[in-house]
Amino acid sequence: MMSYKTLVGLEIHVELMTERKMFCNCKNEFGAMPNTNVCPVCLGLPGALPVMDKEAVEYAIMAGLAFNCEIEKTIIMDRKSYFYPDLTKGYQISQSDFPLCKGGFLEIDLDEGPKKIRLERIHIEEDTGKQIHTENGTTLLDFNRSGVPLIEIVTKPDINSSEEARLFLEKLKNTIKYLGVSDVKMEEGSLRCDVNINVIDEERNIRTNISEIKNLNSFKSVVKAIEYEQKRHIEALENGSNTDKETRRFNELTGETILMRKKFQASDYRYQFEADLTPIEIKEEWINEIRTAMPELPDQKKRRFMKDYKLNEYDASILTQSKELSFFYEELTDLVNDAKLAANWVMTDVLRRLKEEDKELSQLNLTPKALAELLDYVKSGKVNNNTAKKVLREMLETGESAKNIIDKQGLIQINDEEELSRVIDEVIKDNQQSVEDFKNGKDRALGYLMGQIMKKTKGKANPNTANKMLIDKINKN
Ligand SMILES: [Zn+2]
Repeated sequence: MMSYKTLVGLEIHVELMTERKMFCNCKNEFGAMPNTNVCPVCLGLPGALPVMDKEAVEYAIMAGLAFNCEIEKTIIMDRKSYFYPDLTKGYQISQSDFPLCKGGFLEIDLDEGPKKIRLERIHIEEDTGKQIHTENGTTLLDFNRSGVPLIEIVTKPDINSSEEARLFLEKLKNTIKYLGVSDVKMEEGSLRCDVNINVIDEERNIRTNISEIKNLNSFKSVVKAIEYEQKRHIEALENGSNTDKETRRFNELTGETILMRKKFQASDYRYQFEADLTPIEIKEEWINEIRTAMPELPDQKKRRFMKDYKLNEYDASILTQSKELSFFYEELTDLVNDAKLAANWVMTDVLRRLKEEDKELSQLNLTPKALAELLDYVKSGKVNNNTAKKVLREMLETGESAKNIIDKQGLIQINDEEELSRVIDEVIKDNQQSVEDFKNGKDRALGYLMGQIMKKTKGKANPNTANKMLIDKINKN
């Protein structure tokens, strides 16, 4: 039995949500009319000089601090030379030997416990323009994206499976969303991912050459590409051959990767110091200012939820798995003033709905305030749990308020003992056999009788009160 170990490293590009582009005053916005947010600097016209945007550096430092990196003392930019139609300068302003952030890590939760995925670096660079390939075979160029600030996050090859890669990317995306430095939307290209992968045959100590899979645009594609490559690399080892050091592209339709080109050496890019930008010193006070202004991160929030709301670790991690969900939960808890009740409803009914419809929370027809109104009915015993679940479904479908639905359909729970007593007497009278069965120890008969009570009250009987009264009456009978 051979034993193989898969090594995966990720390179993740994240577009920063700054007001302006990285080196000019043009607006940084997605979806504007092509070539409207451009100027001589970001078009790369001769003689135009770049000026570093402060906000872009602050956002990048924030990411570095969130991922436990060491921040470099001086910002030094380099030119990375290569030809691309959407890169009119013939070089990209990036960082080579002195990345802004070094080292660092991000922890993922595995079944066997937390695992640290170490980072190699985070550097800053500008984005290129965008090529749009039309149906008639021509290519259009849009330079709105040219000069948009990016961070490139490079991990060490600490990821050993497609599942670990997915967990890592989710945690990374979530953390950046909490930070608010990017909207990290893969479908709009503000988060892009490359995969580096190879496989080691641990017994014979042979390793395959690294393949790089470029421009994966969904987490699903990352998972599929890793699984496909893993198989391809293991097959090579089993045939006694090896893979080539190359760059490949993932085809979403076939689920396969195909060769793009043999891999570049770093030296092919002829990195050289970008003399148009003077090095900027990063003072310790500036880093401290940024650190102080940083919002709460997922792990901190999780610990606070456990402390403030007495949640267990599992519930706290689920409720902080996205920024949106954690804010929703907190607002709901403040309104209902019952952390446990709020957690139960968010974790079961709300999350189930999101999963069923494959939606984000913001796409759901529900505000914390609207749900709080419903939970107040539950808390005060005016509506029982099952009825409330039905009301929520209707709220989500129609957008109507809990109060409207409950009033219109007369769903207020029957707590009145006289009314319940009347119904229970009837049920006992009509179901003598079940009453006998229960007396003879058949517990299931009680469930049947309760069912009859619910049927007669259209589900509105207070289940606890009715249950108690039913047993009392049978015992006295
Ligand atoms: Zn510009």
